[in-house]
Amino acid sequence: MKYIIALCDGMADEPLEELGGRTPLQAAKTPNTDKLAPISEIGMVRTVPLGMAPGSDTANLSVIGYDPREYYTGRSPLEALSIGVDMEPADVAFRCNIVTLTEEQENYEDRVIVDHSSDEISTEDAAVLIKALKEGLEREGYEFYVGTSYRHLLIQKEGRVVDLTAPHDILTRRIGEYLPADPVLREMMEKSYDILSAHPLNLERKSQGKNPANSAWFWGAGTRPALTSFEEKFGKKGAMISAVDLLKGIAVGAGMHNITVEGANGGLHTNYAGKAKAAVEALTQEGYDFAYIHVEAPDEMGHQGSFENKITAIERIDAHIIGPVAEMLEEAGEDFRMLILPDHPTPVRVRTHTGNPVPYLLYDSRSAVQGMPSYDEESARVSGITEEVGHTLISHLFEQK
Ligand SMILES: [Zn+2]
Repeated sequence: MKYIIALCDGMADEPLEELGGRTPLQAAKTPNTDKLAPISEIGMVRTVPLGMAPGSDTANLSVIGYDPREYYTGRSPLEALSIGVDMEPADVAFRCNIVTLTEEQENYEDRVIVDHSSDEISTEDAAVLIKALKEGLEREGYEFYVGTSYRHLLIQKEGRVVDLTAPHDILTRRIGEYLPADPVLREMMEKSYDILSAHPLNLERKSQGKNPANSAWFWGAGTRPALTSFEEKFGKKGAMISAVDLLKGIAVGAGMHNITVEGANGGLHTNYAGKAKAAVEALTQEGYDFAYIHVEAPDEMGHQGSFENKITAIERIDAHIIGPVAEMLEEAGEDFRMLILPDHPTPVRVRTHTGNPVPYLLYDSRSAVQGMPSYDEESARVSGITEEVGHTLISHLFEQK
């Protein structure tokens, strides 16, 4: 038996007036998932424990089977693992986004944050800007590291974990109220604007109509996590397929194998088909029992507030991942169980994560069960199945051998 989780980041949403009261998942054309829905278990699962922040970090830890209340030490340390940064126990990691702030105001704190991803800046461009920040901002005890796209890292030696605001939670707001209380972090953010807004690369971006990547934004502070081995915990050899450092970091921490797929970039135009192929190859040719296929696109489109693009992302997942994975495994003669779910909702109306339970679909290629006509928020709700504890859902996936 092979096991797959197709993790559609941020896919769950709310009914939208523009869609005639449907959610993006309901409005999307998903013929492959529709085929599975009537013969699969469909239900709701609470991936973010009550009282915890609804991040991709806490939610994905749950889905991978690690109780975030026990294992979560912050988002950024998980990304540090992925980048290969060996943190000391006293070190603190901060996520360093490169964001877009408005430029017409005089004072830094009066600027408005308009884009937490600087138009999904390429890693190549971002590396140039992080280099400028290294040269201009680094001081004793602070070091920058390049991550992926707009997601980078600052490590503070013997630091303190402080409360910071996630930039995607305050889009379109004046930043003054959300700046770090820590004077060094605050000063570095302010200076980062002076360095980046005048950088030739940003002048070029602006002339191309792209959002300038004109400020660093620190958040997600935390210390080194200690995840137990996935293989020891569940007796399964697992592979992670994700473009996102957070997920790769969880995999490193859990001793899972990270598979890099060319063209997988965490955006809407990621290499969906390449991810499906890599998962099937890992399962059928490389001896893995379990593949975690993570797709960031629906979450990003939720943050952008675009239901049209979110629908496109969902349709691409259905067409290029759900359908082909099932088909290729059938052709290979493998029995499999596949769990399809988001980590958390990222409703386009609020443009940020919420902690509400999410719909899941669990398909078993060997045995059909009484499912629902479709897989979406509403069908999962009326199915009457609700898993209140997210981190045990994976044991449910693995319970049939
Ligand atoms: Zn997420």
